[in-house]
Amino acid sequence: MVKRPKGTKDHLPAGSPGLSPDAAASAHAHIHRIAAQVLERAGAQFIATPMFEEADLVQRGVGGSTDIVRKEMFTVYYAGEHGGYVLRPEGTAPIVRAYLENGLKQLGAPLKLWTHGPMFRAENVQKGRLRQFHQVDYECLGSSDALADAEAIALMWDIVTALGLKGVSIQLGSIGDPQDRAAYNEYLRGLFTPHLEGLSEDSKDRLTRNPMRILDSKSESDQAIIAELSVRPMLDFLGAEAAAHFEQVRQHLTDWGVPFETDPSIVRGLDYYRRTAWELHHQGIGAKSALGGGGRYDGLAQELGAKDEVPGIGWAFGIERILLAMEDEGLSFPAAVGPALYLAALDDEHVALVAALARQARQVAGADFSFRRRGAGQAFKEADRRGARWAAVIGSNEAAQQRLTLKNLSSGEQVAVPFDGLNIFLKENA
Ligand code: AMP
Repeated sequence: MVKRPKGTKDHLPAGSPGLSPDAAASAHAHIHRIAAQVLERAGAQFIATPMFEEADLVQRGVGGSTDIVRKEMFTVYYAGEHGGYVLRPEGTAPIVRAYLENGLKQLGAPLKLWTHGPMFRAENVQKGRLRQFHQVDYECLGSSDALADAEAIALMWDIVTALGLKGVSIQLGSIGDPQDRAAYNEYLRGLFTPHLEGLSEDSKDRLTRNPMRILDSKSESDQAIIAELSVRPMLDFLGAEAAAHFEQVRQHLTDWGVPFETDPSIVRGLDYYRRTAWELHHQGIGAKSALGGGGRYDGLAQELGAKDEVPGIGWAFGIERILLAMEDEGLSFPAAVGPALYLAALDDEHVALVAALARQARQVAGADFSFRRRGAGQAFKEADRRGARWAAVIGSNEAAQQRLTLKNLSSGEQVAVPFDGLNIFLKENA
């Protein structure tokens, strides 16, 4: 038997044997629905970009020195050749590319966009860490106002609240403007240089290229050095403008009752990041695994080749992580809704009539039918299994009288309805 690739999951119908909560198709659909409702009420429009992109886009957008680009890319081959494409590992760079390539600036600013879909990273697989995972993404382009930052964060909060999650915390920081980061990097260089020997190979490299990324290191020896040095946080290095912006973001969130904790240690190494950066965590899925995160990336458009800066801020949730958090809190999803009507024919001759009636009923309600004749007992059992509200069987009598007797499967009530009155009945009683 051929199996699915490591680190991927089939999304299956409710009731499938051994179904894990983060692989239930209905659970993913539920998250999409809630996200759509919250984001579209806030004026966000749906966008979808390809699953694969130029490797160059990802390299510039995510950063050539990141683990994602160096170790976790899926390269696309076709006709035996490396096409220069990779499966997308995240959604922001593709959306900014689409914005620039399609002249979406004309749609005005701010432009709020959202999407959901699969992302691909060849990571070490563990619970909540997959190679194909799914995100909800939101990007707000064209505004550098602190309101854009606060609204982006608040929308994440609105989504987790709408899902009923209680154990979520927002860790909010700022990485300042480029000159603030340059000053911080200078400070870090001075601090770490005497400890060069103890640093991991990756971090030795980072010390010259981008010392801030040392703070992000997963290496235990690096983390031990960091702890020993009691490194001052980035927040201490904010210039006056970035500090004022950060204060405004926090003030808006406070005004709106969105709870957050200031996290002075959030770092993002890439040059195009500006100011606000945050992560959402959940007590049930481990401190190292974020539910989602986001940040401001005003310099990204230029990094991708645009002439001018396009201010932007965005975030992504991991849908599987949300589902694990919901499972941890014992939250359930709305069960799949069965059809309003289930029909079956008592003999072969009337199967076509049943099919035609079900298709007619679908103009007003969900209707399903048996492809083969069924005995009455079997038909009602099948209707029940499918969660139908009403069921009927059709044979020679019903066909002759042009009417059917609908049985309510929960109350047992029976109602005789003429074929041409079926849709009116369903409209009122579905
Ligand atoms: P990032 O683009 O790395 O900031 O990721 C945004 C969110 O996507 C994270 O907070 C996770 O919820 C989710 N995520 C990232 N990588 C994975 C993965 N390998 N498996 C599952 N979820 C992931």
